[in-house]
Amino acid sequence: MTDHDSPAQVERVPAEYLRRRQAAAAARLVALDLDSLAVTAPAQKGYLSGFTTGVNIAPGGAVLVTRPGREDVYVTGGTDYLECRTALEPEGFIVHPYYYARGQNVHTELGTMVGRLGLRRVGVEAKYTTAKQLGELEAVLAPHGAAVVVVGEVVDPLREVKDSWEVEQIRRAVAVSGAALAGVLELVRPGVSEWDLAVELERRLVAGGTGSPRVAFQSIVASGPRSALPHGAATRRVLAAGDLLTFDFGATVNGYCADVTRTVCVGPAGEQQRRVYEAVVRAKDAAIALMLPGRARRDSAAAAASVIEDYGLERYLAHGTGGHGIGLEVHEGPSTSSDGEWVAGNVCTLEPGLYIPGWGGVRVEDDVLITGDGQEILTRAIECGRLLEL
Ligand code: ZN
Ligand code: ZN
Repeated sequence: MTDHDSPAQVERVPAEYLRRRQAAAAARLVALDLDSLAVTAPAQKGYLSGFTTGVNIAPGGAVLVTRPGREDVYVTGGTDYLECRTALEPEGFIVHPYYYARGQNVHTELGTMVGRLGLRRVGVEAKYTTAKQLGELEAVLAPHGAAVVVVGEVVDPLREVKDSWEVEQIRRAVAVSGAALAGVLELVRPGVSEWDLAVELERRLVAGGTGSPRVAFQSIVASGPRSALPHGAATRRVLAAGDLLTFDFGATVNGYCADVTRTVCVGPAGEQQRRVYEAVVRAKDAAIALMLPGRARRDSAAAAASVIEDYGLERYLAHGTGGHGIGLEVHEGPSTSSDGEWVAGNVCTLEPGLYIPGWGGVRVEDDVLITGDGQEILTRAIECGRLLEL
């Protein structure tokens, strides 16, 4: 075996976990009186195929989920046909290509497969379907006697409850993120630029990741007065002694994202900096304490806001005091502002922040797994109990 033939450094979702996802999606079809569901959003395709690297990131293609006992279909651009066949045919998928040079596209070939399989009611999710896609799909399915049925979210509710393999990938992404930050904190000193820190942080995040070499999202490195910008992308600003410095970043492992925020101080901190930091951390901890199975998701952000009010700092809240789900996407369900209760397998961030214009800001963000009897802070090893003075 040559290097060229050696197995790619990608760990695919184990077959039994993929089967469970497919079975859960197929069961939803039965409940919705559909015989199939056409999925084109990258994260949905990745979830239902286990393909969360190159092909998933490339645009185009679709997964056609069918009823229990039938084979799912992966419709792919000809460019990725070989890669998809190699990965997906052993998993039981029918892989079908389209070639623009032959006048085909993803919709014409979805039509071909719908005709071949004799499907009649093809669902599409409203959230992920444009009016243009809907029109094209209706036009190609009509000659096959099949109808497009627009439905609500089918795959998102499945993705909100992580299986143990998914949790393991997020755990690994968090570990890589923590190691990357630790390395970068050693470089923090007056005279270093946000930009230099961001470049080194992302290098470490990518180097430590698995699957596709990418970060979960563009890292935020914001110092001094710029730390009052919740989404302050790195600039060439040079750090000065006494600056607050916020990092918000995440690695990916096999497509799964970590999302961590830590704020530190360049050199000794002042009283007000320590007090604002303490308020944010206490708010975060109060919120996380309520992330329990069966408990309303909205309770957490309210608890955090109440702690901030106790400090008299509520006017410096620039966004909510809650967080968002993480997984194949860095922002997914369930969020702390959504209706409903926590269930075991939810993974959600909690990220209160205080932003004082002209002075600076503090945000601390943890990733929390809801367990059968409570919660686990996946980011616990990335220390944040007191303001680090570097
Ligand atoms: Zn974040
Ligand atoms: Zn976040």
